Amino acid sequence: MKRLALKFGGTSVGSIEKIKNVANIIKKRQKEGNEVIVIVSAMSGVTNELEKKANLISKNFDSKELDVLLSSGEQVSSSLLSGAIINLGLKARSWLGWQIPIVTDNNYTYSQIMKIRTQEILSFISDGGIAVIAGFQGISKENRITTLGRGGSDLSAVAIAKFFQTDSCEIYTDVEGVLTTDPSINKKAKKIDKISYEEMLEMASLGAKVMQPSAVQASMINDIPIHVRSTFSEKSGTEIISDGNIDHKKAVTGIAYSKK
Ligand code: ADP
Ligand code: ASP
Ligand code: MG
Repeated sequence: MKRLALKFGGTSVGSIEKIKNVANIIKKRQKEGNEVIVIVSAMSGVTNELEKKANLISKNFDSKELDVLLSSGEQVSSSLLSGAIINLGLKARSWLGWQIPIVTDNNYTYSQIMKIRTQEILSFISDGGIAVIAGFQGISKENRITTLGRGGSDLSAVAIAKFFQTDSCEIYTDVEGVLTTDPSINKKAKKIDKISYEEMLEMASLGAKVMQPSAVQASMINDIPIHVRSTFSEKSGTEIISDGNIDHKKAVTGIAYSKK
């Protein structure tokens, strides 16, 4: 039996139909004989809308209150997804960051994860339950809600994979993997089968939104391989792995861009 960390991004849970689709994927992965821990982002667009509201109050909106606000999108998506899984006849439960807890530093809006308590969730999944964890959030030592920087559910997934010692860390998204460049800019972009942590960190830092840079950094430091793959096809995606496991034949792996 393997233990899987499966992260679904906002684009994968952007509507009720999509949430039901994700619930079916999760059911299939568990039925294959795996223990499953799910990490979920807010439905696409939700976090941006919340941020816009804060900006209408003040351009210097209090960072601790911003974290309370921005983290709320994941409360909605984690409960909807758990409910959808329960509706398929399985045992599931949502966990918010503070309930686990996922303990972070006090660097509000850009927190780093320090530790994650595992006992309760481990006993839940070993009993056949599917744990659905709200991504992007934690709690500081001051007992205040924190968030991990935009796109931070990727970092949640890597940290869950680390602390729960999962056999895989899979990032389900709306593209078939990491591509040679952003497919929304260039339709000829091709999937990269394998990429090193270092190259992925460069691409992410230079604007390839498909992985959050802090998440790639955490996977590199802890040597946690990541599989970036599509929610909408069963094909395998991109393996982000250590450089030693890559046969370098190409001079250029990919091209990232930043606006302006
Ligand atoms: P999620 O909601 O799953 O977290 P994101 O929107 O954060 O998804 O990231 C996926 C998006 O990243 C894709 O839709 C794509 O437009 C963009 N992207 C930018 N650069 C790349 C790249 N090199 N490879 C794949 N996707 C990329
Ligand atoms: N919902 C958060 C964001 O939009 C986290 C994430 O999507 O990973 O930044
Ligand atoms: Mg993302």
